[in-house]
Amino acid sequence: MSCYVRKTYLQPSPPKWDMWIHRDLSDNHCEECLVLHECWFEKKKTPKWPHHPFCHCILVDIQYNTVLSLSSCKCPYEKIDPYLFDPDNFYKHGKSAMLESWGYTIQDSTYLKEEIEKQGLEKYRNGDYTLGQLNAYGQRISIRVELPRKNGDGMVSFITGWMVKPNGLIQLNTPFGGK
Ligand SMILES: [Zn+2]
Ligand SMILES: [Zn+2]
Repeated sequence: MSCYVRKTYLQPSPPKWDMWIHRDLSDNHCEECLVLHECWFEKKKTPKWPHHPFCHCILVDIQYNTVLSLSSCKCPYEKIDPYLFDPDNFYKHGKSAMLESWGYTIQDSTYLKEEIEKQGLEKYRNGDYTLGQLNAYGQRISIRVELPRKNGDGMVSFITGWMVKPNGLIQLNTPFGGK
């Protein structure tokens, strides 16, 4: 007896993303809802919605293609030089100590900026981020960035902090938020 097995081909379904829309339906504007307006999130990593009783916000589906083609990121050069490496010892936060122990110096600022942007955007698009604090200034997310040790002895990683902006933009806040 022959047995015919019907093969079903499963198509991978693209990740689902939301755009947060704050609808202007009352005079009471909640700062947190306002600042989320038109921000994009992977569906499982969207800030709490509805955000509170009587929240007027809605979530709109966005095509993953749109996320891939239009999302962007910005790491201002100044966040690395002078802020992170702090050559004049102005900020006194000591955040560069870990990077320096891995062999990086202020001369690597352009490389670090480009690498943080590249990995940050790629991980945001993959939904590989963690939601952080949300307040009137915006929704923070953290993203882990990996770098090779300068001496060739394997990889190290650290947390970078970003602010989610409208229309798929993430902007670097904290170049080194800990290991
Ligand atoms: Zn609100
Ligand atoms: Zn709301």
